[in-house]
Amino acid sequence: MARRALVVGLGIAGMSAAIGLREAGWSPVVVERAPDRRQGGYFVGLLPDGRRAAVDLGIAEHLHTRNPAGGGTAWELDRRGNRAPGLGFLHQPGRPAAVVRGDIEAALWQGLGQEGRARIEVRFATTPVEISHEDGGVRVLLRDTRTGQEHHEEYDLVVGADGLRSDVRRLVFGPHARYVRDWDAMICAFQLPGQVPGYGDQDSIISARAGRAAWVFGFADRAPTALLTYRTANVPEQFAGDRVERLRSVYSGMDDPVVRYVLDEVERAPEYLFDSVHQVRMPRWSTGRVVLVGDAAWCLNLYSGMGATSALRGGAELGRALRDAPDDVRAALTAWESALRPSIVRHQRVARLKQQMFVPSGRWAEAVRSVVLRLGGAARRRRLARDLVAAPAGSGRAS
Ligand SMILES: Cc1cc2nc3c(=O)[nH]c(=O)nc-3n(C[C@H](O)[C@H](O)[C@H](O)COP(=O)(O)OP(=O)(O)OC[C@H]3O[C@@H](n4cnc5c(N)ncnc54)[C@H](O)[C@@H]3O)c2cc1C
Repeated sequence: MARRALVVGLGIAGMSAAIGLREAGWSPVVVERAPDRRQGGYFVGLLPDGRRAAVDLGIAEHLHTRNPAGGGTAWELDRRGNRAPGLGFLHQPGRPAAVVRGDIEAALWQGLGQEGRARIEVRFATTPVEISHEDGGVRVLLRDTRTGQEHHEEYDLVVGADGLRSDVRRLVFGPHARYVRDWDAMICAFQLPGQVPGYGDQDSIISARAGRAAWVFGFADRAPTALLTYRTANVPEQFAGDRVERLRSVYSGMDDPVVRYVLDEVERAPEYLFDSVHQVRMPRWSTGRVVLVGDAAWCLNLYSGMGATSALRGGAELGRALRDAPDDVRAALTAWESALRPSIVRHQRVARLKQQMFVPSGRWAEAVRSVVLRLGGAARRRRLARDLVAAPAGSGRAS
């Protein structure tokens, strides 16, 4: 009989792990605290590792990507609000695929019920409240969040894929404070109803000053998403009082038309993500037959630009490791972690540097950032012009 795994969380990491486990011959059950599947979400740039994981999981054909034509234009705004073409998120090496988080989750969702494969059971409004190792397996007390009813189930493996503030981590590995590092920064991400007036539909726009920045991410076939991100020495205070008023006060004095538009739209937005930024550092991602994956285990955070990519990869490789060591779960978990950890640690470190690109820490960093991106933008334009001259007449080339 197939071994049973409980996967906690229906995000990118949870669905990837569930598909990976099924391909390894396991029988996974996914529980999700929310009453139904979330959609939409903010801009995500999926890097080659993530795209390879999507192929491995058999979901690449379902993944809808939205890269602007010709690679898109990214405008940098200076302190006076003047624009100049620069380098955007999509222009980094690896040519990220532009998606929203919901595009990846929709592709994975199709993968859960793929034709010809066992449909993976998903239970909404369900969360674990106790997890303990017993008799060579894991005993889990599950709660139905609608009725409050609880019951026990036994599994051969529990996968905690329940995000930054993971309950599986808290229940099995200890309190959040032990693993969650504060980055003294905030984000507010949301869907814009349309492009900032005066810009092309697919353009990206960046207005980054010392300690605060506004980003608009353009897509080929939908309205852009916006990201406000700022640094603060007092994170708890950011959650007190009205959030839009808080944002207006943080961005006061940054009076360019892009910031003004984004602030007006956040006020009208039906929903937005407003949260503090953290990173999760753990000495080990598994104990016994409980393993964490994705943000629950290593949350790289948005500045790394690798969270979704590594969640996909982590889930896919977990399945591979269990397939390679079918009779020894602990050996499989150790092999999985050994293979993955070096690149995760590297991305965790690099995220600090990338944060300077998203939101510079001071005036000096702002100036350096601006020069680097403008030079990079000019080099890119020269390369594109060269390619255009070299290309045979009538042929096109996406950047
Ligand atoms: C603004 C922003 C921009 C980003 N941009 C990028 C990018 O460009 N590139 C990139 O690679 N990454 C990016 N990321 C990061 C990426 O989105 C995340 O790393 C990734 O989505 C994490 O997936 P996850 O499945 O680990 O966690 P989550 O997405 O947090 O999913 C966890 C799931 O578990 C559920 N859950 C939570 N608690 C419980 C519980 N107790 N019981 C049951 N279910 C539970 C939640 O409801 C949720 O469905 C960005 C993040 C943000 C915020």
